[in-house]
Amino acid sequence: MTAPVAPNLRDLDEARRTFRWADARAALDGLPGGGLNIAHEAVDRHARGPRAEVVALRWRGKAGAARDVTYAALAASSSQFAATLRALGVAPGEVVFALCPRVPELYAAALGTLKHRAVFSPLFPAFGPEPIATRLHLGDGRVLVTTPALYERKVAPIRDRLPGLRHVILVGDDWDRTVGAAPTTYEIAPTDPETPALLHFTSGTTGRPKGALHVHGAVVAHHATGRLVLDLHDDDVFWCTADPGWVTGTSYGIIAPLTCGVTCVVDEGEFLAERWYQLLERERVTVWYTAPTAIRMLMKAGAELARRHDLSAVRLAASVGEPLNPEAVVWGAQVLGRPFHDNWWQTETGGIMIANLACMDVRPGSMGKPVPGIDAGIVAVEPGEAGAAGAVVRELGPDQVGQLALRPGWPSMFRGYLHEDERYRKCFAGGWYLTGDLARRDADGYYWFVGRADDVIKSAGHLIGPFEVESALLEHPAVVEAAVIGVPDPIAGDVIKAFVTVRPGVTADAALNSELLGFARKRLGPAVAPRSIVFAPELPRTRSGKLMRRLLRARELGLPEGDLSTLESSS
Ligand code: ATP
Ligand code: MG
Repeated sequence: MTAPVAPNLRDLDEARRTFRWADARAALDGLPGGGLNIAHEAVDRHARGPRAEVVALRWRGKAGAARDVTYAALAASSSQFAATLRALGVAPGEVVFALCPRVPELYAAALGTLKHRAVFSPLFPAFGPEPIATRLHLGDGRVLVTTPALYERKVAPIRDRLPGLRHVILVGDDWDRTVGAAPTTYEIAPTDPETPALLHFTSGTTGRPKGALHVHGAVVAHHATGRLVLDLHDDDVFWCTADPGWVTGTSYGIIAPLTCGVTCVVDEGEFLAERWYQLLERERVTVWYTAPTAIRMLMKAGAELARRHDLSAVRLAASVGEPLNPEAVVWGAQVLGRPFHDNWWQTETGGIMIANLACMDVRPGSMGKPVPGIDAGIVAVEPGEAGAAGAVVRELGPDQVGQLALRPGWPSMFRGYLHEDERYRKCFAGGWYLTGDLARRDADGYYWFVGRADDVIKSAGHLIGPFEVESALLEHPAVVEAAVIGVPDPIAGDVIKAFVTVRPGVTADAALNSELLGFARKRLGPAVAPRSIVFAPELPRTRSGKLMRRLLRARELGLPEGDLSTLESSS
């Protein structure tokens, strides 16, 4: 075991009382010529100081290739990209898209775009041509950074539908000839903190993905949460498993760790339990940020596999993206020797809002408490006479289920949904930002996720969150995945139907079905237990690993399936 490291934040109550965003801003540099620019905070200021030769990106490629990129080198390559944009005549504010595997050029493009004060929009490289066309069109992309192979397969077929797309930069020879030949210094122009910086599309779990716009000032929240929640210390080796195509992979896969000056592991490959354990072991990862879907897959691969690896360097393991079942927290404690620290946020919030901090006792199944600088509440929203604008918002007390709401004003809050002003306005009422998630807070101030407002089931007068039912099913040793929806019933309103995937080698037969029904009833009581269970070889998920209950519901009820651009294909 490595020597214990004292957490950056040791007393949450005290920190919540004394925290000021202005102080968090003061922990950053600011531009020499004025303002605040994400890329300056992430790379240039380190490249000019004693951390210049620290490894910023420890890249591990797919085919065994490896490259270490220092802060000095990343400052230089991102400057080259910024200078290339300038030479191409790209104006600040125009949108640069990336459709790239996780290679060092992607990180140089992200930071270079920010240096140039253009807007960076990373796309998940497994998207097919249609979702790419939709997003490039919506975002009015001027520049696209991609690879020759991705271009051939996915962009060439749609190129004539994108008249606004003026420049395509291909990683490889093309990049080396153009970007590689550009000057390695670039002076960042004064950047007002309200300057648009990032365009992120939501995961599309509940419907058509929305484009959320973020500004340079967001870096204050990225940095503060990197220090206080992910507990980043100077010599940490940090691995965020999310792709930059999802907000987690940018806020915490690029910005937060680099502003803290730590070494980021960048893994080009996809999930494979054995390889992931090897990576954690070999790179001596100290802080690991991953997602429930990956944790459940590791659980499925078995504790034995985990025990064959030395994972003792991991000091903090955190999770985000979906509710983390208590079962998974306990598994982490048994197998890694430390529980997973769940935290909650959204594309819209830009950074972590609610978390189990390193200094807190983890309550399995809870998202934790609001982080310093964030005021959260559980509210009831009743439509007012003037429609959405006049909605009446009432704060609820402990243990009452309502909508999770946040007081606006933190730096990484989104500044709009692209081309959807009305929708953006509807997110705010009574001085709150309404998240669209239902939750409750216990008497000790811990928050518990109940469900997305769209997924919640009303059955015989009860409000049932699918997560609670799914977690109970997951406690059965035969079950690896579960998704729960409400199906209309003339008497009860809705009855609960569960879709269950069983462990490999387990026979999904009628006997197991009735055993599971009984198991759930014993744990949950008849009012909350599923009325029926069907076995499914796999469940529909977004490409970022979130259960798409809306699709199960649509299929069950024979309704239109809606936007499927982010659906993970079963191939
Ligand atoms: P869309 O808005 O397009 O339907 P999405 O909400 O899944 O997609 P994201 O912004 O990527 O898009 O995800 C944020 C949502 O993920 C949250 O609103 C919440 O529903 C869920 N989520 C994130 N973290 C947690 C967590 N720790 N526990 C429970 N739910 C979480
Ligand atoms: Mg959402």
